Amino acid sequence: MLSDHAKAALDPYMAQIVGYRKSGLSLNHIIGCPLDCAYCVRHFWGNFEVKVPHLLCSTDEAIDRLLNHEAFQPHITPIQLLNKATDSFVPAVKPHLFQILRALDERGYTNHVLVITRFHVTERDMAELEQLKHLRVTLLFTYSGITDDRIEPIAKSETTIKSIRTAATFKRRTGVVLYWRPIVPGWNDQPATMAAVLDLGRVADAIVFTGLYHKKESADYMRALGIEVPYGEDYHRRKTMPRDLDNRVVSAWRQSGISTPLFRKTSCGVAYAHGTPDYNGHWGVRELCDICPAKQQKLCADDYREPTAADMDTVLAQLGYETHYVIEPGHVWTHGLGEQRRYAIQHTLRHQIWELDQPHYLHAHGRSLNGHTAEPEQVMALAGVRKQFEQTARYEDD
Ligand code: SF4
Repeated sequence: MLSDHAKAALDPYMAQIVGYRKSGLSLNHIIGCPLDCAYCVRHFWGNFEVKVPHLLCSTDEAIDRLLNHEAFQPHITPIQLLNKATDSFVPAVKPHLFQILRALDERGYTNHVLVITRFHVTERDMAELEQLKHLRVTLLFTYSGITDDRIEPIAKSETTIKSIRTAATFKRRTGVVLYWRPIVPGWNDQPATMAAVLDLGRVADAIVFTGLYHKKESADYMRALGIEVPYGEDYHRRKTMPRDLDNRVVSAWRQSGISTPLFRKTSCGVAYAHGTPDYNGHWGVRELCDICPAKQQKLCADDYREPTAADMDTVLAQLGYETHYVIEPGHVWTHGLGEQRRYAIQHTLRHQIWELDQPHYLHAHGRSLNGHTAEPEQVMALAGVRKQFEQTARYEDD
């Protein structure tokens, strides 16, 4: 248990035990990780040096906090466990993971639960997971094919490869996703490396690929280790997956001849593994779906329903949120909700909820944008924002 003194010194993001992220409501009452991946996001919040997992509160309290969170809805809210600042399967964390899973399952909840790991997953672990009766659990195995052990010290042990094979062999109701990330020019984008990752993906339900969080804190750390880091000083909030790299990944997958589907979005891979439509409503951003199996596309298309103003008002009232909104094909613009609330609405409606951070535009047009016809200049401004948000929707994930 972290001392109160140490807790008070934490970055607020590290101290947050339950928070909403794009892939689900995320419970993180354990922080600290021994695996030492050089690009770890914990660099951003001053936690990378903490190699021993620490509790921020008891696991009973963490479960209470999750279930009493304003946005938690039984059977609906996707949940992520221990995905922010540790690995769910390292020995100090695993018992807590199973305790949470049992507690939720005993209540009969059928929510999606996402668990990310690159550590040992044994036959016994799979037996434990397979005892769950209600939750739709997906194991996402982070595996990049990177061989430089300055970047991923775990790589040389082949631990993750063994875990994926074990999970795939003993799973019945648990989803198994090969989480192919980060794909980074010069590190693991060579054709032979990609082919090997895809070959491993043969046994998984789905493969989800994404790029690197290219930020100064992690880039400085890696450069100091002598690692070649691409993208120069062009740092971004979002992960970087250049279009040509996306094309090369998709071509490599097509050429591989494997039957495992490839997805750009975590929620799409998770949804596919359980035979459900995507809970993030990415069908509204159709360019993402060109690589998706026809059967899955049909599931998402059949599930797709543009919300009405009444639907939006109902969800906003239910969650206690307020925002102006504009309903457009494929998405709803909102303003000022912040990510946490936006995703709660998105997961409730299974529809893309976007943020229109254009206060002048909003101020110019009063309180409600419903039914508003904008001036040509405003249409152009909106088009610019829309473009930006389409890019975000394409590359944002967690
Ligand atoms: S059809 Fe599109 S939204 Fe649905 S799972 Fe496939 S890629 Fe995702």
